[in-house]
Amino acid sequence: MKKIPELFGSMVFNNEVMKARLPKEIYKALKKTMSQGTHLELDVANAVAASMKDWAVEKGATHFTHWFQPMTGTTAEKHDSFISPSGDGKVIMEFSGAELIRGEPDASSFPSGGLRATFEARGYTVWDTTSYAFIKDGTLCIPTAFCSYSGEALDKKTPLLRSMEAVDKQALRVLKLFGNTSAQRVIAEVGPEQEYFLIDKEMFLLRPDLIYTGRTLFGARPPKGQELEDHYFGAIKPRVSAFMKELDEELWKLGVCAKTKHNEVAPAQHELAPIFTTTNIATDHNQLMMELMKSIANKHGLACLLHEKPFAGVNGSGKHNNWSISTDTGINLLKPGKTPHDNAQFLLFLVAVIKAVDEYQDVLRVSTASAGNDHRLGANEAPPAIVSVFLGEELTEILDSIEAGTNYQGKEKRHMEIGVTALPHFPKDSTDRNRTSPFAFTGNKFEFRMIGSSFSIAGPNIVLNTVIAEVLRQFADRLEKAKDFNSDLAELIKSTYHEHKRIIFNGNNYSDEWLAEAQKRGLSNYKTTVEALPEFISPKSIELFTKHHVFTEAELRSRYEILMEAYCKTIHIEALTMVDMVKGEIMPACIDYQNDLMKLLQRKKALGYYDSSLEEHLVGNISKLTACMLKNLSTLEKALLDSKEERKILAQAQFYRNSIYTAMSELRLVVDELETLVARKHWPFPVYGEILFSVI
Ligand code: ADP
Ligand code: MG
Repeated sequence: MKKIPELFGSMVFNNEVMKARLPKEIYKALKKTMSQGTHLELDVANAVAASMKDWAVEKGATHFTHWFQPMTGTTAEKHDSFISPSGDGKVIMEFSGAELIRGEPDASSFPSGGLRATFEARGYTVWDTTSYAFIKDGTLCIPTAFCSYSGEALDKKTPLLRSMEAVDKQALRVLKLFGNTSAQRVIAEVGPEQEYFLIDKEMFLLRPDLIYTGRTLFGARPPKGQELEDHYFGAIKPRVSAFMKELDEELWKLGVCAKTKHNEVAPAQHELAPIFTTTNIATDHNQLMMELMKSIANKHGLACLLHEKPFAGVNGSGKHNNWSISTDTGINLLKPGKTPHDNAQFLLFLVAVIKAVDEYQDVLRVSTASAGNDHRLGANEAPPAIVSVFLGEELTEILDSIEAGTNYQGKEKRHMEIGVTALPHFPKDSTDRNRTSPFAFTGNKFEFRMIGSSFSIAGPNIVLNTVIAEVLRQFADRLEKAKDFNSDLAELIKSTYHEHKRIIFNGNNYSDEWLAEAQKRGLSNYKTTVEALPEFISPKSIELFTKHHVFTEAELRSRYEILMEAYCKTIHIEALTMVDMVKGEIMPACIDYQNDLMKLLQRKKALGYYDSSLEEHLVGNISKLTACMLKNLSTLEKALLDSKEERKILAQAQFYRNSIYTAMSELRLVVDELETLVARKHWPFPVYGEILFSVI
């Protein structure tokens, strides 16, 4: 292996490569476009494209693609080779500026949520100059945004970039009021921790449910699960370690700062965290990470499961979105400072986040909603479906004393005056290891923990950035008019905290007391995707996103449709898979086993004197359960027929949740019990114990 610094970014057309390979003037023009979003002239684009192509060809690339993120949640790419006929029966390798800047994939097969009906069917992709091009699998990938002909966003990147601009704009207004003239930009940054499962590929291929839906639809609890907590941070098994090593290396080549890897709580569960970076790049990198996890696992005879809940009874997987905002001069606005001035600024940004999360808890919840994540949120492991903020005791005490105008009761008892006194030095609260909070302050960043492991982090960050931008806008509007900045600022921090502190909760989020308490505080609790999603198109949400030009109303409504449809389709596929597994394999297995037992019974009877209580007991119980299975199966099949009835999308999603999902759960219950009775050699699928402990 090459040395890591040499390896790192070796497949990325990054700043260093650009500087080394582009003519000076071209490099300067491109940098300007990258930092200021100015138009890229065609001659500049042509020069960049030629240089990119040469570099890529030297690295063995033969094709290029506009790499984009449609509303499917994954990435899309259509490869074109660089070849161009040179007239003499030969070819040359070509790549033009026009091809670099803009592509025109046929958009008609991507979800558009109705946008296509009203707008042009064709879509186009445009180079996102803020994210570097890279080579993956012999193809030069150009990160692009994907829009309809009339400019409506059909992807996740476009609104993400818009939301980053919104925070940038509003945060800069606030910073100016604090006399900061050096910062040109404020950047939202993210470090997403990715959880996943690794199982043996052979086991995976024997489970149609894993193949079609990404999760097991049946499976009785194994004798051992995660109760001993012996997997968490445990020694990494050699096969897993080999996978992780290759994954790290491939990610490093692509410039992804893969940093921390460890075993997670559930058996076969692991985590990989990169070092944080600009949200837009972090999002691209997280997509690459998920893709590489799958393909590299495959090479190692493993299957990587990114579903939120591959196995019932053990923890599911999430994605912890560590988020902060900082200036282009390197100041983290969520980091408590050392001077009174810095601390006043820190407190203002802190209460801005508190207010934003409280006021927009509904849309934040929406951003984490999916059929897969419904199995986690509120299911006693991941954060609950109720959004709340963890601040830690010390910071809460400081804010409490500010609110009450009393002495801060910490180690250094004194009166806190915003902008006059420095914050008492508070060590990172030890309770910041509170893993139950959905939105935890962890010293200099917030960790949004409700996101599902298979999600693109674009959605949650679009919402996060926009709600923060909105509150900062309100703050800037108010403080720009202030006669006495310091006293208005103090008053604003105090009153904001007072009005929104109901969102703060430092205790155990899994407890029943919290459920009751949250309800008393008037916090929302959307238990399922179907309940949460309508909040996305509430008047409040429409006002928020349109005001900051993150989504138009049409875009918002189209996304709502897409998310609802995805929910229905997911459950539909799961239900069909269950039916298929039961009819095709589980029923015959039960019959075969009973047949064995019946034959034995007959032989025993013929001989006359043997005791047959075991066989009779088994046949009796299995018969009872199979009858029940048959009944539950027909209920599910009937519900599936009913799903064909014409309904509005919300009613349809409700039908899937209430009728189909319920019927699926009931069917699973009987089948799981049958699994414990039928002889293992007859059971058609590997069981949980075999799958979860398959990698040795
Ligand atoms: P853990 O939460 O497991 O204790 P850390 O807190 O060290 O781990 O970091 C988790 C993630 O948070 C990493 O991806 C890290 O790069 C990221 N992170 C650290 N500082 C910041 C920051 N200021 N803004 C955004 N992400 C950050
Ligand atoms: Mg963390």
